[in-house]
Amino acid sequence: MSSTITDFNDRTVEYEELLNDFKRILKNNSLKFTIQREVILETLYNSDEHLAPESLHHLIQKKYPDLKTGIATVYRTLALLEESQMVTFLSFGAQGKKYELGAKEHHDHLICTSCGEITEFVDEQIEARQHDITKQLGFEMSDHSMQIYGICKKCQERL
Ligand SMILES: [Zn+2]
Ligand SMILES: [Zn+2]
Repeated sequence: MSSTITDFNDRTVEYEELLNDFKRILKNNSLKFTIQREVILETLYNSDEHLAPESLHHLIQKKYPDLKTGIATVYRTLALLEESQMVTFLSFGAQGKKYELGAKEHHDHLICTSCGEITEFVDEQIEARQHDITKQLGFEMSDHSMQIYGICKKCQERL
């Protein structure tokens, strides 16, 4: 029997560990470790949501108004985290991307194209099938992502 799990708020990586990776990446890119950059990482870590750069910026400004973290810093730091594969993003077409730190158990996504709601799930059968397929094709899988786009239940009822 296959089971589908939909709760992924537990962190699988300690914040300290991520912070060390982040510092190393900044160093490798000749960038300074600043409190603004740390706050970006920390806010991503503590969020259960997939965040658009603007929402992330908004959260930081609300929590740390004195830091005056610019939106440009948020964009640049996200780009760096993306390049270093510390964050994954979900694409919302013209509305841009939403980010999450790779600090949670692997999961796939259902994305509502009407309201933007994201549901995370893992299905054992789907996971197992993907392993079988890559094995059959002699492919060494390092990761995978699956996004299913459509209309969520609430939006269907509203339409
Ligand atoms: Zn919806
Ligand atoms: Zn997710």
